[in-house]
Formats: sequence, C-alpha cells, structure tokens
Amino acid sequence: MIDIHSHILPFMDDGAADVEAALAMAQDAHNDGISVVVATPHHANGVYMNPAQEIEAAVKALNAKLQEAGNPLQVLPGQEIRLYGDLLDDLERGQLLTLAGSRYILLEMPSSRVPRNMEETCHELIIQGFVPVIAHPERNAEIAADPSRLVKLIELGALGQLTAQSIAGVFGSKLQKLSLELCRRQAVHVIASDAHDHVNRPFGLSEAYGVVKRELGAEAFDFFLHNSRSIIANDEVFRANPAQSNNKLHRLFGFFSRKG
Ligand code: FE
Repeated sequence: MIDIHSHILPFMDDGAADVEAALAMAQDAHNDGISVVVATPHHANGVYMNPAQEIEAAVKALNAKLQEAGNPLQVLPGQEIRLYGDLLDDLERGQLLTLAGSRYILLEMPSSRVPRNMEETCHELIIQGFVPVIAHPERNAEIAADPSRLVKLIELGALGQLTAQSIAGVFGSKLQKLSLELCRRQAVHVIASDAHDHVNRPFGLSEAYGVVKRELGAEAFDFFLHNSRSIIANDEVFRANPAQSNNKLHRLFGFFSRKG
C-alpha cells in the first residue's frame, strides 16, 4: 500500500518528535503493509513553517536511517499546505512541495470552516496544471454540516483525501458514517493515514481498507488503492467512485470491466 499523507519526518511538526519516533512510525507502516509513504509536514498553518528544501533534506536523512535499520519503507517528499495568502506566489517561487513531485498538491483548510478563497485558489491551481487534494474534508465542520460544500470543490477538479482512522471508526461512528457518505457521493478519492505517531494516530491503512471492502465493495477498494498509486506516479486518478449507489451507470461506462 501507498500512503500519501503522514507526519513521519522528525523535528518538523506535531508528528514524529525525534529520529527514534520516526523509526517507530516507519516500523508501524511496514507492519501495516505499506511500502511507500509521502512525508507531508504541516506548512503555514500558523504554528509550523517547513519550507521545501528542509523537507527534502529531512526525507533524504530519514531514508538513510531506514536503510541502516533494514526497513525497506521508502519515504518521498511532500507537504501539507494550509490555505494562506501567499500560497500561489510561494508555489511559483519553488518554496512549496507537491506530493512526491507530482501535479497533486495536498491542501489543508482550518477545521472549523471552508475559507472564502478556497474555490478561487483551487480554480487557480487547476488552471496552472495542479490538482488540489483536500486533506481530511470529513473533519471540517462546515463540510460535515453540508457536504455539498465539498462537492462544489470536487466539481471544480479538486480531489478529497479521507483519513484512514475516520473511515475505520476510530474517531466515532458519526465520522465513520460521514466518511462512507462522502465515498458514495463521489466526494473523496484517496485514503491516507495522516499518521502522527505509532500509538494514537498510527498508519492503520489496512484497517481502513478492510472497512472499505466490507461496506463499499471490492471495486471501491480497488479504486482507492489505484488512486494512491496514481498520485505518486503522477498518473491520472479515477474520479468516479464505484461506491455510489447508481452502479448501473458505471457498468454502462465499463468501469467494472476494468481488470486489476
Ligand atoms: Fe496532516
């Protein structure tokens, strides 16, 4: 499995506190069946600033440590970027990182609301050839109250990233139900851990995928696995989540005839 959102890099944010903690997280990822992790430290969220070059250096250092420790996990550079005023300018200046050097860029909103300039920023990014990936929309209060706020951003061309623990039910049944609803409404396209440590907020992808398979079916499971692979390969993702209730439509368009 591939994980596109994690706080595994040491000394960067509220994720791994030191190298030992990062290695413990890497062991957890490996045990969970994950082969590639994109490290996405918080950036410009009001607390942490982690510019591109520092992240790239830290990724290099962690990969060397992993090799030393005999853990085959591969860490790739990324960033979880809070929506902020200079985002587009800083991106142009090369201070921001996309996910593993792809056109996919991980965007974070405040948890309480959808910022007024969210649509405009997504639109501008898309015009420039990027694909905004909205981090854990299910944890945003405004979207939870009105999922059509998210659907609007998806219709613009953004993608939704669901957090593994949300769909696994770790954050409660209400958030799990909302997560499943967002899957069925075609509003989320990729599942990622948002892991911060190896105890309270671990990787847990296998558990989340187990829930997807059980609740939404094997096609939805394939859809999510495919999309996380496509993101780090900078390939096209699937937009139409087969978890939707109107499966007939998808059969007409041949989604279910796709092999592997
Ligand atoms: Fe995060």
